[in-house]
Amino acid sequence: MTILALRLSRQANGVSAIHGRVSREMWQSVWPGVPKKEIPIRHVTNGIHTFTWMAPEIRQLLEKEEGVFTENDLAEAGQWKKRVDFKDKEYWTVHLKLKTRLLEFVRNNVRNQRIRNGVKPEEIRAAQLMLNPKALTIGFARRFATYKRAALLFRDLDKLAAIVNDPKYPVQFVFAGKAHPADEGGKKLIQLIVKVSEMPVFRNKIVFVENYDFNVARHLYHGCDVWLNNPTRPLEASGTSGEKVITNGCLNFSVRDGWWDEAFDGTNGWAIGEDGLRLEPEVQDEFDAFSIYEILQHEIVPLYYEQDSDGVPKRWIDRVRRSLMTIGPVYNTQRMVGEYAENFYKRAAEKGRMFADNQFAKSRELAVWKDRVRNAWSGVKANGVTWSGGNGTTVSVGDSVSVSAHVLLGSLKNEEVAVEAYVKAVDPQGPSLAIRLEPTGEVSQGWVKYAGRVEVKDSGNFQFNVRVRPSNPSLTQAHELRLITWASNS
Ligand SMILES: *Cc1c(COP(=O)(O)O)cnc(C)c1O
Repeated sequence: MTILALRLSRQANGVSAIHGRVSREMWQSVWPGVPKKEIPIRHVTNGIHTFTWMAPEIRQLLEKEEGVFTENDLAEAGQWKKRVDFKDKEYWTVHLKLKTRLLEFVRNNVRNQRIRNGVKPEEIRAAQLMLNPKALTIGFARRFATYKRAALLFRDLDKLAAIVNDPKYPVQFVFAGKAHPADEGGKKLIQLIVKVSEMPVFRNKIVFVENYDFNVARHLYHGCDVWLNNPTRPLEASGTSGEKVITNGCLNFSVRDGWWDEAFDGTNGWAIGEDGLRLEPEVQDEFDAFSIYEILQHEIVPLYYEQDSDGVPKRWIDRVRRSLMTIGPVYNTQRMVGEYAENFYKRAAEKGRMFADNQFAKSRELAVWKDRVRNAWSGVKANGVTWSGGNGTTVSVGDSVSVSAHVLLGSLKNEEVAVEAYVKAVDPQGPSLAIRLEPTGEVSQGWVKYAGRVEVKDSGNFQFNVRVRPSNPSLTQAHELRLITWASNS
């Protein structure tokens, strides 16, 4: 279905920068011969509808001094900046109210769960004692697809028990989520979480809330202190629940994947694990779990419990401000829809009108042209690439390299193709560019010499080649016809 959609579309996008890159790698074969960077899949990072997920009490706080916060303000960094100037104490009072509401919601949910399961009356009553309103509360709620690794926290139960049961600095976890009915792996994860939550060391401190839905999710987004997200990289296309929590002052503690890789700046939450490591899944799990325990113990817990005599954690609230200020204006639908409009829809609308005008004159013309180019393409050839000006394949900044090749276009005309020098750093992370070459005269029997200069902006080892692709101003993609001929080395 993806291939069908890509072939029938003129624009495609991933939902975060990483997702765009991964998609270009995954679907490179849909554009054979086209370098990865030129695969026409871009990205717009997902955002959330802020006012749907922001607790009304938080909205009131943000509006108290600065007046009504409107949809149009949401993508304005200045708006968030001035609104986070609330008093620490006022924010903390609101937060504790929302947290208490969450704890009561969880207690009722568990109570009903126990009544339904027919457990002993004292256990039903005990549900009213579960969770501590003063304890650092960490939430995890989403679909239980296995790549999201809901049970990663439980890799080392002794370590976890030490964190949860610290007598001065307790930590508690609320889990919620559903697995797809056919996902046995996901269902096993839920069983494991429920089992751990019933172990005496974790009782009343790790809770699984049943019947996950929007309402359960909303309570968690409003009342948690920290939001845990630990998918296997790079499988989380964007993720959005972490965007919903920031609007309520909850801080993200997440693997750098999807949106969080773009949003995390070292001051607005915490990143799990190290960036850019490619490990075997089992090793990766071990590595990330270790990182979770370390950061919890040494950074998150100490910061949360650094509270003044009123119980207000000032430095924690500064981090909440950073989170609201840096994430609020970017990861919302206001910004997202704007990007879709500017980068995709406007262009599609303009092209649509152009193709529809005069009873689809341009569409017909382009269709006829494409047919002709496809039929003629086997006659297109290129060879005899030369370059000079650099020191072999090593070039330095400021070098001007002249490139030429012999090209045969068969029945096609020069205006119907683009002949390009393609220059690529040997280092796969390095730059690449395509420079248009111009015909300089016939060599023999229809073969034409094309030449041009490449001005080098980076030093290093480069590879040069020459390619021919169809070109027409009505095309939407450079590689729309999926025809590309690279020069052979003969
Ligand atoms: C936002 C949302 C999600 C998405 O959560 P991720 O952590 O991004 O996977 C899932 N379920 C509900 C109910 C949501 O509101």
